[in-house]
Formats: sequence, structure tokens, C-alpha cells
Amino acid sequence: MIIAIDGPSGAGKGTVAREVAARLGFRHVDTGAMYRAVAWRTQQLGLDLDDEEAVLGVAQAAQIDVDGSAISIDGHDVSAAIRTPEIDRAVTRVARLARVRAELVRRQRAMAADGGVVMEGRDIGTVVFPDAGVKVYLDASPEERARRRASDPAHSAAQRQALADVAQAMQRRDESDRTRVSSPLSVAPDALVIDTTGMPVAEVVERVLLTVANRR
Ligand code: C5P
Repeated sequence: MIIAIDGPSGAGKGTVAREVAARLGFRHVDTGAMYRAVAWRTQQLGLDLDDEEAVLGVAQAAQIDVDGSAISIDGHDVSAAIRTPEIDRAVTRVARLARVRAELVRRQRAMAADGGVVMEGRDIGTVVFPDAGVKVYLDASPEERARRRASDPAHSAAQRQALADVAQAMQRRDESDRTRVSSPLSVAPDALVIDTTGMPVAEVVERVLLTVANRR
């Protein structure tokens, strides 16, 4: 069983995916962390983020280990280093590159070979697993998403920024994710759409688990 959770940043994907995976004893994979890690490694190697050939080389050669939102690339634990405003900007450039996406999608499909996975991202239900047993699309108002991001301990630098700056940077990244040519963020026609604005995490988790139970 594959559970695909998509949506924009700050919609609650991470918290919900982690909790649903824990409740079902499934593996949790944060694919955003994979794109972020490739952006981090490309910058660390001094390569150009817009050079598709160079970034593809990094993505193909890298040893990437993902466990929930914890991630290491080529032996560097980058779980904290990839959640900075600088990587927020860098990652959208990497995420636009079609061949880089194809390489990460190949890896994501391999991770689910043993089944029992909750995978979160932007294109999981539309591209990575169009036949996923359960597809969920989480959304929330722009104000709430910015507030969540600004108080997310994983994004500690965002906590030190003014809320208006966090909201503006998020809007720019959203725009890029929704309008890029390769696998833009969109709602799969068969996805359960949940607006999580003002909704407690536990309620979102229960709705997802109910859908899972009905599909089993
Ligand atoms: O989920 P997170 O905010 O960490 O994702 C970072 C970025 O990675 C997104 O803004 C998007 O550009 C890219 N991404 C993607 N496809 C995914 C997951 C993330 O393009 N499946």
C-alpha cells in the first residue's frame, strides 16, 4: 500500500505523513528533503544550480539515505542544513530540471518496492505513483501556511524572519512549483483534498486513516 501526500509547503504534509506512517507501521519518505539535499550538495561542490548536466551528475552519483525527514547525502547528515532560506531558493531551481526529477523519481519508486510507504511531496500522486492506493492533497490558507513555517522548529532560520518575509518567500516558491513545465504541483483527480486551515493535526490524521481503512 502506497499513501501519497501532496500539497504546497506549510500545508501540514510532514507532520501528517509522519503520524500516519507511525500509526500504520509504514515507512515515511519526505521527497522534498531529497530535492533539497541534491541542491545542497550541488552548491557544496561549487557547481551551477541551473546546469542540468552538472546537477544530474550529482543526483546520479550521490548516496542518498532518507528516513522520514532525516537525510544524509554522500555521508553528510544534512537534515538541518537543507532547511534554510538559502536552500529554499536553491531547491526550486533544481526541481525544475526534468532529468534530475526523473532520477529522483526512479529512486522514490525503488524505495516503495517493499510496499508500506507514506510518501510526501508535490508530484507523488500525479507522477511518482499514479496508482497509489490512497492519494491525499493537503492545503491551507497562505496566512496559516506562513505561520506554520515560521514556527516550524525544523526551519529554525525561518523562526528568526519576519512573518511577512516568510510569507513572501513561500509565495515565490509556490509560484515556481505550480508553474514549472516539469511535473508542476497539481491536484490528482482522485485525491482526497483536505483544507487543514484551523484543523487540528489529529483530525487530519484520522481522516487519512479512515480513507486508508476504506481502501484496504
Ligand atoms: O516539501 P519541501 O518544502 O521540503 O520541498 C522543497 C522543494 O522541493 C519544493 O518547493 C519543490 O520545489 C521541490 N519538490 C518537488 N517535488 C517533490 C518534492 C519537493 O519538486 N516531490
